[in-house]
Amino acid sequence: MKRILLSHPQIGRQEKRAVVKVLKSGNLAQGPEVSSFEREFSRFAGGRDCVAVNSGTSALLLCLLALGIKEGDEVIVPSFTFAATANVVSLVGATPVFVDINPKTFNINSKSIIDSITPLTKAIIVVHLFGLPADMGEIVKIARDHSLFLIEDAAQAHMASIGNEYVGTFGDAAAFSFYPTKNMTSGEGGMVVLSNPTLTRNCRLLRNQGMEVRYQNEIAGYNLRMTDIHASIGRVQLTKLESMTLSRIENANFLIEHLETQFTPHIPSTFLHVFHQFTIRVEKGRQEVIDYLSSKGISSGVYYPTPVHKLPTFHSEQSLFETEKASREVLSLPIHPRLTKRNLSYIANTVNKALEIVAKK
Ligand SMILES: *Cc1c(COP(=O)(O)O)cnc(C)c1O
Repeated sequence: MKRILLSHPQIGRQEKRAVVKVLKSGNLAQGPEVSSFEREFSRFAGGRDCVAVNSGTSALLLCLLALGIKEGDEVIVPSFTFAATANVVSLVGATPVFVDINPKTFNINSKSIIDSITPLTKAIIVVHLFGLPADMGEIVKIARDHSLFLIEDAAQAHMASIGNEYVGTFGDAAAFSFYPTKNMTSGEGGMVVLSNPTLTRNCRLLRNQGMEVRYQNEIAGYNLRMTDIHASIGRVQLTKLESMTLSRIENANFLIEHLETQFTPHIPSTFLHVFHQFTIRVEKGRQEVIDYLSSKGISSGVYYPTPVHKLPTFHSEQSLFETEKASREVLSLPIHPRLTKRNLSYIANTVNKALEIVAKK
């Protein structure tokens, strides 16, 4: 049997055809494909303005820059996330203030946010980790009560929602990623979603050398543009996003039903979890489980082995109990849309077997 990979982008004939068409057009850099991609993505962002860029990290960076976050400001972030969430805070000269998670959801603990607010706090970045929306009901209120900007890191959560509102539409600005392991891809790429026209204009200027009209530079900007080649892949992927998401959810439901562990994902009612990762906890013998799965041809992953506040970049003395515990226990299993029922059964049986073996030790 072929090895079961942890992620596997769904690239088919349509994506290949779209890329060739752009290559033949001669217009390779940011152009009409990018504009169309932005317009089409807006459908999954409550009709808000979208600005396409070259990565999810660039999208997060633009959120902070467009909101004017700068040196001397504090930004509240979870530590249980990919480092990019906190890196961008440092890159604009501000200070990330790390907050613990809710152990049931792996998402930022809304109660701990309040305790971390100081007179220097300017913004909160929430991460919809693994595809499960953060506790936006509470967090939107906290941001409003304390006059803080709210930024959503939705890199892992395309189409995730609470009630009928998509993530990316709760805050002032949001960032999505189209890296190949994410729920949809453009090769590399990102999308900024903005809540008002001033922010949109700021982002467009910062993305392209500070120019709206060519050679009439208004501010010092970057080159964070997406190419039409990448946008053409993203546009095709967007047409498959609903079906790919549905398969992730079906795969997750199958595993939840067949795994003999109580630590399967917790989903609050009215929340749509889009399962970027399917993550369980293994309290004892995680490495043995990983090795056993690997010996049976199943790849698994640990997201994330080191909490961001413990990375050399931030070397915080702070102790975040639930974050550190989660880092020791989490294990992500394959859940991507290419898996067959047979693959899923095999994964569930093999994980059950591995857990049984480590329990006996
Ligand atoms: C992937 C990811 C990013 C960064 O996106 P890139 O496209 O890789 O730059 C940021 N935050 C989180 C939570 C991510 O998973």
